[in-house]
Formats: sequence, C-alpha cells, structure tokens
Amino acid sequence: MTIDATTRIACAYYNGSAATPHNVEVSLYGDALSIVDLESENPKEIYFPYSQCRYVKLEEQAFVYLQPSFASYLVVPVQHPLYLQLLSKISSEQTSWFQKLYKKNGIALLFAFLIAAAALLFIGYKTVPPLLVKFIPVQEEIKWGNQFYESILSDKEIDSSATELVKKITEHYSMSTQYPIQVSVVNDTTVNAFAMPGGHIVIYSGIICTMKHPDELFALLGHEATHVNQRHSLQMMLTNITSSYLLSILTSDFNGLGSTLIGNAELLRELGYSRKLEAEADWKGQEIMIQNKVNPAGMTQLMEALQAAYSDNGNWSFLRSHPVTKDRISESKKFSQQHVGSFDSLQAEQQTAWEALKKLYPEKPSSKK
Ligand SMILES: [Zn+2]
Repeated sequence: MTIDATTRIACAYYNGSAATPHNVEVSLYGDALSIVDLESENPKEIYFPYSQCRYVKLEEQAFVYLQPSFASYLVVPVQHPLYLQLLSKISSEQTSWFQKLYKKNGIALLFAFLIAAAALLFIGYKTVPPLLVKFIPVQEEIKWGNQFYESILSDKEIDSSATELVKKITEHYSMSTQYPIQVSVVNDTTVNAFAMPGGHIVIYSGIICTMKHPDELFALLGHEATHVNQRHSLQMMLTNITSSYLLSILTSDFNGLGSTLIGNAELLRELGYSRKLEAEADWKGQEIMIQNKVNPAGMTQLMEALQAAYSDNGNWSFLRSHPVTKDRISESKKFSQQHVGSFDSLQAEQQTAWEALKKLYPEKPSSKK
C-alpha cells in the first residue's frame, strides 16, 4: 500500500512545549511528511523534509524527530500503520548517530546509554537527570547559563551599585573551582535567591534586608554556589522538561536541549530542590565558608533570621523553595560545633562595602507587635 496525500493517519505529536501529545494527522509525500494538528485552533498542514528528520527506536516504538533541533517529534508504535514506511523514508545514514557515538566513545557510553534508556522507560524519567547531567560538558552548561541569565532577568531591575558592593565583599571569597560564579543583586522586595546552571547567582534585595551580619551573605552564597557546583540546578531543570529531550543529550545535540532549557528558564526562579539536595547545599556551603575562614555559624544565623522574619512579609519565594526546617537548623549547628576554629573577620574594604550594602537595604522594622 502506498500512502499519498489523500491518506491521513492519526499519530501522537509532541510539539516541544506541551508535555502531553497532540493528536495530529500525518501524510507522507515523496520527500517530505506533513502534519495537521487537529487540536490547534487553526489547523494547517506543516511540512517536514525527510532529510531533516531522524528517528530513534526504543523498544516497541520510534521517536521521529521532525527538526534537527529535536524540539518536536512523533511517537510511532511498531504496530502503527505508518511505522515501516515512515522509517524507510528517513535514510539509515541519519540514524547511524548511535554507531558513530559508539565508535567515538566506546563501550562505557554504550552502557550509559542502555542504563539511561532502561531508566527512561522503566523507572521513569525523573531518575534519569542525575545520570545524564554527566553527559553535558561544563562549557556547554556555562554557555546556557549565560542565556538563562539574559532571558530570566529581562524583566528585572539589576541594582548595579549593590551588585558592585557584593562583588567587593566577596572579592576574596572563593566559591567554585569549576564555574565562574557571578552574583547579581536584583531590586525586588521578594525574599529570594537562586542559582543558575553554569555560575550565575541572583539575590533579591529582599533577602539582603533580612541579614544582620556579612557571614549570612557568605552562607547564602555558599549554599547557592553548591547548587551550581553540584549541578543541582541543571538536574532540576532536566527533571522538569519532558523525557524526550533527554534523548537529545545522547545524540550530542546540545543545541536542541539548550534551546529547550532556555525556553523553560522561568523554572529557575521558583525551583524547589529535594530535601537531600538542600541538605547537601547547606553542608557543602558551610565547607566553602570554612575553606574561606568564614565562621560556618553564619549558616544557622541566616536560617534563623529567615525563619524569624517569615511572618513579617508575604513575599517568601525563597522559603517556598528552601523551607527552613528544624533539621536544617540543627544540622548546621552541629556542623559549626564540629568545626570550631579561628575565623577571619572582614578586611576594612570589605567591611566598608558591607556597611554600604546594608545602608541600601536595611532591615525592615518588624511588623510584629
Ligand atoms: Zn537551596
């Protein structure tokens, strides 16, 4: 049987932004296929040349990617009437990416792929990101991070004097060996701070207002820098996009994945981490403090200040994504007790910068009666 333009067959289509498939009609032509999205308000026939399509066969179905970016794809089960014809149209050369990958990276990668594919299908995609993060080169992550930064802060007012002051305060505070950590202060009363993959840390002026001591700032930055260093933010973003994009990592098509993540950059603002990752960010953050001869008790002070001020203010994004629990406070105390020693106080220049920062963002008078 030959399918021509008059035969349209329903298929599941993922358009790259929605997590659920759309029902589309697919037609096969000589050198292109077309789809009509039946769920669109204004259904139009869109053509995709076979030369740009690729497919990946996994178990009982094929993922047919319609564009080199891997952004949109059809899921075609083996028993689907289009299966054989569609796959025969897309030349085998374009599907040999796996062999190329195998030749290039050998058996270890093959195993990683098999584990990832198995996990993807049988365990669920939420468990896959920690494994797949290892495939993403740090340089690529830093590049994306710069794009996230542009996109997510486009509607925010960066306070450049406060940003300069924080830069001054942290001049001798080393937070990462692998990533270029850059801190920006945003003028916003929301009590929030977040880390982006690749090294950007954004702190809202609202959280500076809650701080009494520079060690609390060092604690916050140690915590956020750990989210960067341990690639927590990247993992969290990967977990939040649909499983299909994980496959594009395996094809080494980082551009496709990068653009998808950038489209989802908003996730970073209110990203919630698991308790396990939060705990890790706390104690590794305290390790950063110790390495810099800063008293790790600043972490406990920060948590207690956030908790005490909690009822005073409605804008609490940070506590939503970083709930301060009794456990976190007692763990951070325990850490400090195990690491008593002599700590450096701020040098004159840093102290002056801290005082100037607090002049810009002083503590709010308590509304508690
Ligand atoms: Zn955190």
